[in-house]
Amino acid sequence: MVLALAPLALKALIDRLAGTQGEGTRSFALLDHHVLLLALVYVGALCLGRLLSDFRPLLVAAAEQRLHARLSRRLFGHVLGLPASFHLDRQTGALAHSLTQATTATQVILSALMQALPLAIELGTVVLVLAHLGQPQLVAIFLISGVAYAVIYRGGTLRIRRRGKVVAQGSLAAQAFLADSMLNVETIKCFSAEGVVRQRFIALTEALQSGWVDLHRQRAGLAAASTAVFAVAVTASFVVSLEAVANGTLSVGGFVLTTVYILQMVRPLDTLGGAVRDIGQAIEFIEPARRILDEQVEHAHQRDSAGTQGSKLPSRPLDIRLSGVHFSYAQGTTVLCGLDLHIPAGGTMAIVGPSGSGKSSIARLLLGLIQPTAGQILFGERPLHETCLGDIRAAIGYVPQDVVLFDDTIANNVAIGMPQASQAEVEQACRLAKVHDLIRAQPDGYNTRVGERGLKLSGGERQRIAIARALLRRPSMFLFDEPTSALDSRTEAEVVHDLRRICAGRTTIMITHRLTVARHADRIALLQDGHAVEVGTHQELLLHNGTYARLHRLQAGAEGTAANDGDAGTAT
Ligand code: ADP
Ligand code: MG
Repeated sequence: MVLALAPLALKALIDRLAGTQGEGTRSFALLDHHVLLLALVYVGALCLGRLLSDFRPLLVAAAEQRLHARLSRRLFGHVLGLPASFHLDRQTGALAHSLTQATTATQVILSALMQALPLAIELGTVVLVLAHLGQPQLVAIFLISGVAYAVIYRGGTLRIRRRGKVVAQGSLAAQAFLADSMLNVETIKCFSAEGVVRQRFIALTEALQSGWVDLHRQRAGLAAASTAVFAVAVTASFVVSLEAVANGTLSVGGFVLTTVYILQMVRPLDTLGGAVRDIGQAIEFIEPARRILDEQVEHAHQRDSAGTQGSKLPSRPLDIRLSGVHFSYAQGTTVLCGLDLHIPAGGTMAIVGPSGSGKSSIARLLLGLIQPTAGQILFGERPLHETCLGDIRAAIGYVPQDVVLFDDTIANNVAIGMPQASQAEVEQACRLAKVHDLIRAQPDGYNTRVGERGLKLSGGERQRIAIARALLRRPSMFLFDEPTSALDSRTEAEVVHDLRRICAGRTTIMITHRLTVARHADRIALLQDGHAVEVGTHQELLLHNGTYARLHRLQAGAEGTAANDGDAGTAT
């Protein structure tokens, strides 16, 4: 706006000078201070315009940083609330990169808008001044070139958006592959797969590179087209204003003014077009993050939404009932079909069954990470789907089959579910999980960092930290998924002994393939073909002489002759 008005001062200055020509030095001296004033106004207007545009980034930076922080928090919070089904399909590298892409793209949009808005005002000023000069042809040239810019930028932006999409996708694919490779770097090394992996990464980056080149080719094409419009518009305006000066309808100052304006008008038009182009391109880079934000969060994180909140879950142990539960991850692959199980309040049920029979899926169902396709799960009288998942998860102490830890200290990993726990409580939980002495032996004790995913610890150590983590919360129910699979027989026996004591009186589900662990449960369910084929106590199932009894004989034989009834030194 200031820049747009500056030439007005220049026009007045030139007209003044032109008017004094030939009147001698005396009158010129009289006008001296007027001329000087006009010159100062012109320079002042130019400087102010420059300063404003130079200071704009400072103002914009604060807004951009606020936007970045808000967007990151929103996306992070949203992703945390998304259901397990989303996370199963998620590519960690792509997810993280989509946030970076979206933030950068939002900044591009923001700065394009910040540029475009003052330019829109500047353009309006230019049109008004041109109209007041009484030169309709110039206004027409201005408007026609405006339309020409609109047409070429529209087509160009569409083409750039298509390329932008390819680049955004390619960049996500490369980042996803990078993160996945880093997570599997040990496997890559052990299988000498560095070459293969590197080749795949090269292919991805080459595709990305050619995508960028293609995108910039489109941008260059668009720039060439807009330069052509510029050349035609400026030439036409020169012709028209020179003619007007010749006819005497335009003063010399007016000629300079129109010339400056025509040059000055093209810049904002061009910049406006550029802003539209950049916004179009940026939209494609925001798209992946927008798709994530469109995903529905699980109802655990919508406590206030209708029907999901209800009253809080009682803190006493509840009975757990699965009735007619069907489940499949994808169409055509049935994991559970008509599973009926009842675990009385305070009782312990072991679930055994062949690998892949759906044992871990039952754990995920109980935690509300996945939903049954048919049937019902009840905690006490309360159907799971009508209960706040946050409450359910708070009531259950869960030890997963595959333990993954945070890249943090051991103490923080143990206290993740109960951050207010004291050091003494953390240590007590670790003692019960038979991991306290091991932790004390670490160089930094409880402050030892475990590395990404806890990879600096052994599988058995991770497993015991997971047990300690669950015990620390003192939940009313326990859900163990193969909690001792990575432990040696002796440690397993000790841990199981302690667990039996801790779990007494709390509803407990013990998923295990070790019958030495299962046999202590009040009841055992053998899972096969999607439902419980045998349910009873250890003795009942042995008497039944079915699959359980056969498995028992098999494991007893495999565990050697140390004990004659299959306890094999792990008796507790
Ligand atoms: P278990 O714990 O008894 O070994 P799971 O419950 O982990 O078995 O898995 C049951 C079946 O579901 C298996 O056939 C497995 O391949 C399949 N499965 C497990 N997780 C997924 C998943 N995220 N997507 C698709 N199929 C899965
Ligand atoms: Mg499993």
